[in-house]
Amino acid sequence: MGKLVVYSECDSDARVLADLWRVYFPGARVEQAPGVQTGETQTEGEQEETASLHIQRNRAVNKTTAGFTVTLKYQGGSYTETEGFYPDRRYEKAVNRERRMLRLAVHKLLTGQLRLFPSPWGILTGVRPTKVAQRLFEQGMSEQEISRYLLQDYGLAEKKADFVTKIAVRERPYLMAREDLRKVVSLYVHIPFCPTRCRYCSFPSFSLKRWGYLLEDYLSALGQEMQKVGAYMKEKGLHVQTVYIGGGTPTVLSAQQLGRLLGTIETSFTGFGSWELTVEGGRPDTLEREKLQILKRHGVTRLSVNPQTMSDKTLQRVGREHTAEDILTVYKAARAMGFAVINMDLIIGLPGENREILSATLEKIIRLQPENITLHALALKRASSYRQDPVALPGPQKGRELMELAQTTLERAGYLPYYLYRQKEILAHGENVGYTLFWHPCIYNIQMIEERQVILGFGVGAGSKFPDPVNETVENIYNPRDLPLYLARLAKIIQRKVDKLERFI
Ligand code: SF4
Repeated sequence: MGKLVVYSECDSDARVLADLWRVYFPGARVEQAPGVQTGETQTEGEQEETASLHIQRNRAVNKTTAGFTVTLKYQGGSYTETEGFYPDRRYEKAVNRERRMLRLAVHKLLTGQLRLFPSPWGILTGVRPTKVAQRLFEQGMSEQEISRYLLQDYGLAEKKADFVTKIAVRERPYLMAREDLRKVVSLYVHIPFCPTRCRYCSFPSFSLKRWGYLLEDYLSALGQEMQKVGAYMKEKGLHVQTVYIGGGTPTVLSAQQLGRLLGTIETSFTGFGSWELTVEGGRPDTLEREKLQILKRHGVTRLSVNPQTMSDKTLQRVGREHTAEDILTVYKAARAMGFAVINMDLIIGLPGENREILSATLEKIIRLQPENITLHALALKRASSYRQDPVALPGPQKGRELMELAQTTLERAGYLPYYLYRQKEILAHGENVGYTLFWHPCIYNIQMIEERQVILGFGVGAGSKFPDPVNETVENIYNPRDLPLYLARLAKIIQRKVDKLERFI
């Protein structure tokens, strides 16, 4: 569907429904009619499929109940759904409740009457569903009440409501107390280069072949950004709880460059006790023994060695230039060197994969007993080469089955889910879940998702987060995504970050 036109007395309804609508019709425009337009208008001669949604507000008869009737006209059919609501000011403002009920009515209509494959996340469309559960905890609800509330009032599937609530419970001890918010931060350090590009990848990574000539300049700029911001933080007594070096593939750097980078981090910042330090090794073809030794010597506490799959055929198909055997070799070397936590990322739904291939991958990985396994459901965004050159991927039903297979297998093997996030256009309305064996959660991941701590991002495209606990908002600022621009604007980027910290603390 190209466009949905919303007929309603309330001008904001199109905006309230847009992201939910796009869960079922990715890329569709949602516009208010008549007169109030959101998004671009149709160009002359352009033919697109259009549907209309008519919203009627049913006023309260006895001042306690009210509701909506929504009618969709689509492909010659007409579909109607109603939803009542009972004003309850205990947990949310009346206006939010009304919006939620409108979304529930439309969700029912799409999944019940149009019979579209239902999202188990109901009307929750955001990246961070656990934040909703955290908010409810803070409003005094019990675990059982939250589960029930998510099920009834947000339309989550029962299993999902329990799942997200349990994860929120496990995260709570790591959430920052308000009084520490201005004393302790986490850092993200971005190395945007990759040896080659995986076909499913949607991240803005730079291939070494094309951009390698800027690598040294980049490292020097990144070093300056960290040193200058770090000097300010030391002056103000700001401590660091966790550091995450991500990418791209940070281990494309030489052993010497990695040593220099880690040395700069050590001298620029002061830890809040001993900090958690993660390096995303990513691809095993970049993790030679000498690099592992450098990482260990510099106190890396968590190393990611990411197979994505243990099928050589799939690895080849998706453009990763390593084998499953390479993964085993690197894993064993890292284990022998004594890294405290090793994480392994897997992707569910890669082209050509079925239950048997996924089961074999899970079996091989579980046998290694890494402390962390992160399950990602495939999400193909516009930048991925599979969007330009499509391949056959599992449909929603099969995708759901694969995800359930992976989640159940890990839980049976003793892995506990400890953090979760979602993405747009993700396989089978799924989710990405971090699991831990013997309770070694990655605290950075929890801080990043829950947005209760300042996160400072260093390097090209890196984002920084400044949460405001009073208004429950988060201000995000980003470094430029363009590499030459990042280098050219470095002084301004540093000043902006220091100014922002100055106002914040
Ligand atoms: S290694 Fe990661 S960031 Fe680099 S191309 Fe592959 S998926 Fe993208």
